[in-house]
Amino acid sequence: MTRAALAVDLGGTDLRAAVVEATGRVAAFASTPTDAKGGPEAVIAQMVALLERVRAETPDADIIGLGVGAPGPLDPEAGIVVDAPTLVGWRNVPLAAILSKRLGCAVRLENDANAAALGEWRFGAGQGTQSMVFVTVSTGIGGGVIVDGHLLHGRRGLAGEIGHMTISERPVRCACGGVGCWEAFASGTALAREASQLAASGGASEIGRLAGPDPITGRHVAEAARQGDGPALNLLDEEARWLGIGLANLLHLYSPERVILGGGVGSLLPMMQERIRHTIGERAMAAFRDVPVVQAALGRNAGLVGAASLMLPEAS
Ligand SMILES: [Zn+2]
Repeated sequence: MTRAALAVDLGGTDLRAAVVEATGRVAAFASTPTDAKGGPEAVIAQMVALLERVRAETPDADIIGLGVGAPGPLDPEAGIVVDAPTLVGWRNVPLAAILSKRLGCAVRLENDANAAALGEWRFGAGQGTQSMVFVTVSTGIGGGVIVDGHLLHGRRGLAGEIGHMTISERPVRCACGGVGCWEAFASGTALAREASQLAASGGASEIGRLAGPDPITGRHVAEAARQGDGPALNLLDEEARWLGIGLANLLHLYSPERVILGGGVGSLLPMMQERIRHTIGERAMAAFRDVPVVQAALGRNAGLVGAASLMLPEAS
């Protein structure tokens, strides 16, 4: 029998489940579009069905429990989803208790970004560190902070909302309702916004050509930049500068041994590394400037593997 944990990654778009072995290996995987409008009961039924599927594929696994990554804010101690903005009707849902009763095993709940940070720390690019910061840059910016060998939770588990630190006085509205957040300047959404504005003024013809009739996204910018397109390279340079400013703040706050960059925009790190390093060099105190910024290793599996790791015993 192989020791393993079940894992669920509850997203607004996709619901994903897995059996994850104690080594971090994903032994079975299943996913389905989340019934985001169906309310908690419908989604919980989807979870149970997916878990039964992955469980059936791994008859030899000795399951020690279930870890769930879900959108915040949530209470990891009580196992309650407090308010998931992308899911209809998810207010104060005692998800851990409900699933524990249905499945007959121990269940732990964690914020999805924190779960991904745990995954990278235990089994990915953060292995071997005692302190690290995980930053995921895609539609928004999220993250998780490991300090002195522990995931930082803070009051009500809300620590590490790094995307919403104020980074500029420019009145750019953030999805959270705030103004000037890091996410409003450095997320994939922000990159797409800048590219669209440039294209509208006639300054990004190659990016516009790649997008065709579709809205411009960060992916189009990346594609054009890979071909050496000047405007795209400038946009990525500015993206990297905003990222570097936020990362310098995180270095000063948490003194990590390593910063792990994930998400769609994070995967463009090789094209941005030079400007990020330059910006950190300009803005961080000397003692922090040599901290490596590296790419995440687990990709989309980070959240699942991290959720499972809530149940898996620490490696000796
Ligand atoms: Zn914000």
